Formats: sequence, structure tokens, C-alpha cells
Amino acid sequence: MNAKDWAAAVIKQDEIDKYLVGGKDFIDEGKIYEELEKQKNPDKQQVRDILQKSLDIKILTPAETALLLNVEDPELLQEMRETALQVKRKVYDNRIVFFAPLYLSNVCVNSCKYCGFRAENKEEKRHVLSMDEVRAETAAVIDEGHKRMIAVYGEHPLSGADYIADSISTIYSVKRTTPTGNGFNNIRRVNVNAAPMEIADLKKLWRVGIGTYQVFQETYNHERYAELHPANTVKGNYRWRLYALHRAMDAGIDDVAMGALFGLYDWKFEVMGLLYHALDLERQFGIGPHTVSFPRMQPAPGSFLSEHSPYLVSDEATRRLVTVLRLAIPYSGLIVTCREEAGLKRELIHLGCTQTDASSKLGIGAYSQKLKQEDNPDKVQFMLGDQHSLDEEVKLLAEDGMITSFCTAGYRCGRTGDKIMNLLEKGVEGKFCKLNAVLTFREYLNDYASPETRAVGEKLIEQELREIENTPFFTDKKLLPTFRSYYERIARGERDLYM
Ligand code: SAM
Ligand code: SF4
Repeated sequence: MNAKDWAAAVIKQDEIDKYLVGGKDFIDEGKIYEELEKQKNPDKQQVRDILQKSLDIKILTPAETALLLNVEDPELLQEMRETALQVKRKVYDNRIVFFAPLYLSNVCVNSCKYCGFRAENKEEKRHVLSMDEVRAETAAVIDEGHKRMIAVYGEHPLSGADYIADSISTIYSVKRTTPTGNGFNNIRRVNVNAAPMEIADLKKLWRVGIGTYQVFQETYNHERYAELHPANTVKGNYRWRLYALHRAMDAGIDDVAMGALFGLYDWKFEVMGLLYHALDLERQFGIGPHTVSFPRMQPAPGSFLSEHSPYLVSDEATRRLVTVLRLAIPYSGLIVTCREEAGLKRELIHLGCTQTDASSKLGIGAYSQKLKQEDNPDKVQFMLGDQHSLDEEVKLLAEDGMITSFCTAGYRCGRTGDKIMNLLEKGVEGKFCKLNAVLTFREYLNDYASPETRAVGEKLIEQELREIENTPFFTDKKLLPTFRSYYERIARGERDLYM
């Protein structure tokens, strides 16, 4: 089938209609603008009451979120930032999860005006990785010390659901001996960022063990969406995309990740859109998003809009939107990526982000060929702001008291979907995460850390071990003996032990 016919066959209208209420989707522009208007000039007590609700790890209402978005008082903004960090510590402790993005294909049938992969960008050299190439790229990512990956695909028949499923299996199959010769390392969780699919295709991904399925709505504003995504393309169908995660839930994938591409439209509107999305997932499936992303648009090869959009978001607005997202959907992970320049990225981590990437390469085939983005601008989607290596990032964060976690245990122990939501809300998952963070950090320090990173890391791990020994939860739940034995076994060379 050629690309045009294929695109025409992708959208299944009944897999949109079943989620609508009275023929309407959950984004009502009029209502959002009204809420943002109504909640201007919030008073201190109102804001403090809302902050207490966030601290109780309860999702906020649209009115409460609109109110926080309108806070301008520097003192209140500071209180919000402090509470955001408290929320993060309550749910996720002081850990940060690292992953590596892997771009598998840059062929695309769509024409998103902000993306280097769009079909009419003739400068872009197109390629779909063969399974041998996927193995080589995966090996190079593993050799950096990574254990989690997000696989990214353009939308095209050459990289449809069967290809995605094959590539996930291929990534899981690669095992590498660690540089010290102590055991092996592998990718233990493959998340996917790919176009919206029908339920039958999503089931294929579920069967091969997809981690989180991530789709960004780009902009939640119907009209702006239509301007950016031509109507004759698959992506031109706003609702097909809006319900991508609903279909994933119906396919059995209960870890779903949402996001908006900030810079396409008013940032306050997009935060409200993300909240409505989370609320609708909760309403229809009882589970909110596993993570929320807020990528900021970066310059993309050949895209005028990517550099001149009237809605580009300033650093200060980014700090504010991250703070509000942390408070509004307190149980979700928040992902900040290497799109951001290193200094700001670190600040955002301290405002409540829980996941980030490092050593990232966006060029197709760039990991195994050790290419820098300047070496292959014709194969990247956009330019990165932060090109630190994983080792450098781990050290920088450890110096700030944050422990790097490569933990993938939650997913492999069945702590996903509604089960993990419950545990996150009660602060229990954070406790397991602490144990697994220490176990996987031990692996990393032994296998991959430079002497400088190791020196900083050893101090941090000692501190963490003391904290674990002194936390009643671990003693009460009788977790300590198993943890201690796993820690010692890992220190002796065993790998991939988790709780
Ligand atoms: N093709 C699939 C899709 O559109 O859903 C998945 C891959 S696409 C490469 C992943 C994401 O990259 C998009 O959802 C979009 O938010 C983001 N993106 C596109 N252009 C960007 C740019 N110029 N700067 C930052 N992020 C961008
Ligand atoms: Fe294609 Fe996704 Fe880029 Fe749009 S954002 S052009 S769908 S790769």
C-alpha cells in the first residue's frame, strides 16, 4: 500500500466516537478561557488551601489550576515552588530517573509545521533503522550505562505497528557485558513515542512488553491545531490524537504519557488542556497519566515557525508552568528533556521534575557512529540544548543530593496503571523506588561511573543507606533483610536484582 492510501486507512472513526460525550470531546475552549478569566487576582488564603490539597496528593480542579496559573505575587509564587518540591519529595523522594531517546525512523507522512521530519522537508535524509542497526544503536546506548529507553518513530507505513513491535523486541534482546566484565547490562524498559494507533495495533505493542506509551497532543486548542497540521494528513485529525491514550488503555497499556509542545499556543491554555486530559482519563479509566511532558519548541531544520511562533515560552513562564503542573497533577511524573539548556534543566529538576535524559543523540544511527548533532543536521528533528553525558549528569545531580535511579521494577512487578496510581498517592511507591534507586545506582557506580562521579556517588549512597536503615516503613514491612542481601550481591557482581 502506498503512503497516501495507508494514511487514509489509519483512522477508525468508531475508536474516536466511543469516548465522546454527547458528540463532544473534553476540550471546551470557551470554558477554559472563562476559568482563566474568572480566577484572576487570587487571594493568599485561596492559594494556600489549594497548596494543601496538592500536598495531600489530590488532582486539582480546573478552577483551582486556573487560579494557580494566575498567581503573580512573588511571595506566593515562592510558596508554590516550595510546595511543588515538597510534593515531589513526598511522592518521588530525591530520586531522578534517566532514560535515553532512540530515534528509529524519520520517515513521516505528516506535515507538522514545527518538525524537521515533516514530509515536505527535502533537506532531511530519510532512514528507517534495520533490526541490525537497532541492535547496534541499543548496544551503544547500553554502553553509556542506560537501562531505560524511549523509542521514537515518524508516522509512516515503513515504521508502523509491526515494525515498532519488532524493534521493541529487538531492543530487549540486546545484552552487553559491562566494562568491568562484571555481569551484563541491558535495556529493561522500552517506552514508545509514536503516532496514535488503533486498538488492535496497540495490542501488538502491549504483547511485546511496551513500557509507557507517549503521545503529545502538541496543542489542545482546536483552531491552532488545525493551522499547524494540514487537514489532509493523518495528524490533521485532532480527535484521533486526543483519544490516542484512551485507546491505549483499552488495549491494556495502562502506563500512558501525555504532553503538549509548548510554544505553539498560550502556555496557560495548554496547562489547562493537560489537566482536562488527565481528568478525562481518570473519569473513563480510573487512571491518570504516568508522566506529563512539557517539551518547549526548539529550532527545527527548515521550520520558520519553530523559531518565530508568537507563543514561544520564556524561561520564567517555563518555571511557572512546571510548578503548576507539579501541583495540579501531583501523582504524575514530570519529564524534562535535553531540549532545554543545562542550567534551566537542572532548575526544573529542582522544581519537581522526576525524569530526564542524558547522552542523548537525535540523529538516526547517531549513537553507534558516535555522531554529534552538528555532524548530521540533516537527520535530526530539532537541536538539543543540553549535550552532557550521562556520567556528567549523574555527578552534577549527586552533588545536589539527588540519586539517579535506573529502576524499572515497578513495571516488572506489576506496579503499573491503577495499582501504581494508588501507591503513588499514598507515598508507598516512592519508598520502593528508594530501595530500587539505591540498587541500580550501585550497579551504575560499579559498572560505568568515572572516578570523579564515583567519589561523589559513594558519599550519596552511604547517606541513602543510613536513611533506609532508619526509616520505620522498611523495618515494619520487613523489607530490610532482602534489600541488604540484594545490595551485597550487586556489590559482588550480580545484576538486575529488584524489589
Ligand atoms: N511522529 C510521532 C508523533 O508526532 O506523535 C512521534 C514522534 S515526534 C518525532 C515526537 C514529538 O516531537 C512530537 O510529538 C512533538 O511534540 C515533538 N517535536 C516536534 N518538533 C519539535 C521541535 N521543533 N522542538 C521540540 N519538540 C518537537
Ligand atoms: Fe511527523 Fe511526528 Fe514530526 Fe509531525 S511531529 S512531522 S508526525 S515526526
